[in-house]
Amino acid sequence: MVDLEQKIEEMSGIRVSHIKALHRLGIFTLKDLVFHLPFRYEDYSKVVPISEVIIGEQATVIGKIISVNARRSWTKRKMQLTEAVISDDSGSIQAVWFNQRYLAGALKEGKEIRLSGKIILGKKNLSISNPAWEFSSRDATHTGRLVPIYPETEGITSKWIRWQIGNIFQNDFEIDDPLPEKIVEKLNLHDLKKSLIFAHFPKTENHFKIAQKRFAFSEMFLLQLKSLQIRSQWENESAVAIKDKENITDEFIKGLPFELTSAQKKATKQILSDLEKSHPMNRLLNGDVGSGKTIVAAIAALKVASAGHQVAIMAPTEVLALQHFESFCKIFKDYNINISLLTNSYQLISHNKNSDIKNLKLFENYKLKIENFSRNTTKVKRDDLLRFIKEMKMSIVIGTHALIQKDVQFGKLALVIVDEQHRFGVGQRAFLQQQTTEIFDGVKNKIPHLLTMTATPIPRTLTMALFGNLDISLLDEMPKNRKEIITRVVPAIERKKIYDFVRDQIQQGRQTFVILPLVEQSKAMSEVKAAVSEHQRLSEKIFPDLKLGLLHGRLKSKEKEETMQAFKNKEYDILVSTSVVEVGVDISNATIMIIEDADRFGLSQLHQFRGRVGRGEHQSYCFLFGASSNARLKTMEKYSSGFDIAEKDLKLRGPGEFLGSRQSGLPDITMENLGNIKLIEISRQEALNLLKTDSKLENHPLLQKELEKFKKNVHLE
Ligand code: ADP
Ligand code: MG
Repeated sequence: MVDLEQKIEEMSGIRVSHIKALHRLGIFTLKDLVFHLPFRYEDYSKVVPISEVIIGEQATVIGKIISVNARRSWTKRKMQLTEAVISDDSGSIQAVWFNQRYLAGALKEGKEIRLSGKIILGKKNLSISNPAWEFSSRDATHTGRLVPIYPETEGITSKWIRWQIGNIFQNDFEIDDPLPEKIVEKLNLHDLKKSLIFAHFPKTENHFKIAQKRFAFSEMFLLQLKSLQIRSQWENESAVAIKDKENITDEFIKGLPFELTSAQKKATKQILSDLEKSHPMNRLLNGDVGSGKTIVAAIAALKVASAGHQVAIMAPTEVLALQHFESFCKIFKDYNINISLLTNSYQLISHNKNSDIKNLKLFENYKLKIENFSRNTTKVKRDDLLRFIKEMKMSIVIGTHALIQKDVQFGKLALVIVDEQHRFGVGQRAFLQQQTTEIFDGVKNKIPHLLTMTATPIPRTLTMALFGNLDISLLDEMPKNRKEIITRVVPAIERKKIYDFVRDQIQQGRQTFVILPLVEQSKAMSEVKAAVSEHQRLSEKIFPDLKLGLLHGRLKSKEKEETMQAFKNKEYDILVSTSVVEVGVDISNATIMIIEDADRFGLSQLHQFRGRVGRGEHQSYCFLFGASSNARLKTMEKYSSGFDIAEKDLKLRGPGEFLGSRQSGLPDITMENLGNIKLIEISRQEALNLLKTDSKLENHPLLQKELEKFKKNVHLE
């Protein structure tokens, strides 16, 4: 009997390099190792006579080694080749291995081996390429069965893992099942030990399906338990119930220069009614670029501010925070609401002519280009601003992460709005509430209502799986006046045509973006170089008579902002930029978005870029340079809704890539199943049922322990 709690260091024959590699995979005990599940299987189960192998297919054969020969290949790379001829009663076949020099010594003529691999047609005869092999006198571990393939890391191969797990299973082990028996029975799952055996040593395809079903369920079940627990914690908290003063929000909505879309109306209603409750709202406003999230957020802010409480609005970057500041100042130009901006570089306040702020003679006037309405914007010292926030002189405080610093304290904070960027990561998004409520002071014993907004639409299945702790308002409808952006995938030969078109648009007073891709995550420098050289090429060769701006990640945030502002003020006709421009910057005069090497971007990201244009009254265009035959890019021509594109993107790339964060720590099997609605629904239902009778899992200590471990591993904060 093996004790699974044993550390891997105690395994026989283990080297320091193995230990390091296993630690990298998050494996510290034997138990962790047996929970390191295969992600696929090679079907080597069927042994066939050599004469019956089929070209192009996997096969397993058993035969005697007739000859072994090692040599260097003729090709430039001079690979080490090991060739052997194997034969059985029906015929013979050649096996070839690459760069496995030690093999020639191990393969003794006359010995019988079992080989599994793909059959190819070599120069003269059939050959089995780089096969897995073992002597036929041994148990089938690496050949002759459904062979599990594991997630590997440098220094640890699937072969090694198979061998070690084989040892553990041979000696037998005991393991307690954390899943309640009732659920296992009800859902027709197999118990834990059996499922583990089936996962590592399936005799049939059905075996590993049974195992997969069980592990997919148990992991999703933990995720749902976690999010439901967070939800109920949240529901037990109390918040300030905000009552609408004299229908101020109704009046405000009536006074808007446009009519809200029905999606906006619905979302607004949901949010306003959440705010009236005495437990905190925790809602996600899930909407496409340009679907009008800002105005919905502003209505919520108005309700809270006019009731005498404070609102904090957090944006991911300074550019965006500044833009929100401008928008809110404009939106509330006729209201006596003091608004401030707090970032590392800005400490501004904006106040109405009637505001009592004007009596405080602390400020120097700050010239913001937005000052064409009945408000004053002034620059203040950080300390003074912090004091104003604490003393309730500021109703709406907009900022970046600078807002969540210990010394920023609110007098009467009742609503936090987070306009997050999808790059914030899965976790931060879902569980930001924990952070914010701990740091913001607000009203004693109450926590603020929380409204998060997405920068990219999240597919429904993902919101179900990951954001079960949030209420969701969808903005799946665009304002009516919006013209659809004309999108084309452009072949290289038509580049000149597009440049002519750009020139034509610019002559009509419009502006253009040119976006260059991130070449590789780690090579931010080459991305900068690409932008610099494209800027140079366009300025010198293509548009020498036009004004071109340049924006990339190497610029200081102040410089980035100045460039963005200059583009906004039409000081440039064209802005050449790396992906840093992605955040929701609003330039309504820009009508063309050109994306170079578009096939390097995910669809959702392309959609995000495309949303930078089409914000004004003019017809807008998006041109995708790159592989013109790229079917994936054609999706962009076909679909204009961000939700549709997100669904496609999710299908094409899978949840892991789509969410762009392996770092969430979610188990692979959960990642894979984030789109599996049926599984999600079942897991959620079972989690609900269980928590109803045992909300703290006191009667299910094993499960509670698993959940603790899960919480520790899954970095959702
Ligand atoms: P996003 O959801 O990307 O944050 P914004 O809130 O920036 O979108 O809205 C984009 C633009 O659409 C803004 O200029 C806003 O004033 C305008 N807008 C919002 N709602 C409507 C509407 N119902 N009708 C017309 N224009 C609208
Ligand atoms: Mg926005």
